[in-house]
Amino acid sequence: MPSPFDLTGRVAIVTGGNGGIGLGMAKGLAAAGAAIVVAGRNETKNAAALAELSKLGPGAEAIRTDVTKPEECARLVEGALQRFGRIDILVNNAGTNIRKQPQAYSPEEWHLVLDTNLTSAFLLCRAAHAALKVRGGKVINIGSMMSIFGASFAAAYAASKGGIVQYTKALATAWAPDKIQVNAVLPGWIDTDLTRQGRKEIAGLNERVLARTPAGRWGIPEDMAGIAVFLAAPASDFVTGAAIAVDGGYAIQA
Ligand code: NDP
Repeated sequence: MPSPFDLTGRVAIVTGGNGGIGLGMAKGLAAAGAAIVVAGRNETKNAAALAELSKLGPGAEAIRTDVTKPEECARLVEGALQRFGRIDILVNNAGTNIRKQPQAYSPEEWHLVLDTNLTSAFLLCRAAHAALKVRGGKVINIGSMMSIFGASFAAAYAASKGGIVQYTKALATAWAPDKIQVNAVLPGWIDTDLTRQGRKEIAGLNERVLARTPAGRWGIPEDMAGIAVFLAAPASDFVTGAAIAVDGGYAIQA
């Protein structure tokens, strides 16, 4: 019996795969046998991720992409197909946050967060659907603890992350006949550029996270590798529309 976690021959697009959680997931997928297409805006980070992923797996490509732009999302999908001839896995991970009180957001700031975290998933799912449908496929959307909880300093972010879970469920029902499973991962507090900035901006955040997380530590990007492999592999063929917390137990605390 082949391993249910084997990704040999599969091709994955990982947005924001040039650092943080995206790179942690991409490394897991590459080690399980998938070729990876990394999409991010920063060429230096793209090149560094490409070098790392090329050593781990059967092949990697970086395509400079701003996921808020519909034409760049379409170009990313075309580029992946040109390079590897198929797309089996789409990880919608690119994300950003603007931390302030809800009444202080400008419409531009609101749209930047929603476009990066939520509309990008719509654009890429729409662009990749035909390719994913060829052999059946996997979509992994990245939510957050703020898909579940509120936070005074993150109204736009929470709206985007709540929305991505509902979008996940809608896609899961629509695309089940196409043998495309669509799931969300809700990371807890993971040590990345995004949260390092948050720790600077929000007094006491570090201590509150440690106190509430039963595992007693912040997560690291590599903690996200296993769930990515599971949700990308045949192991999860009967799992769809789920939102799975990977959070050291943060969400189970009262
Ligand atoms: P990082 O800031 O380390 O990574 C964010 C990634 O998104 C970068 O690779 C960045 O690449 C990419 N990105 C941002 N905007 C765009 C854009 N417009 N177009 C293309 N790529 C973009 O943060 P994390 O790794 O922490 O975050 C990854 C995901 O995980 C996000 O969706 C975040 O909301 C989510 N998350 C993170 C948690 C945490 O504790 N860290 C907790 C819960 C969820 P580049 O700058 O090169 O474009």
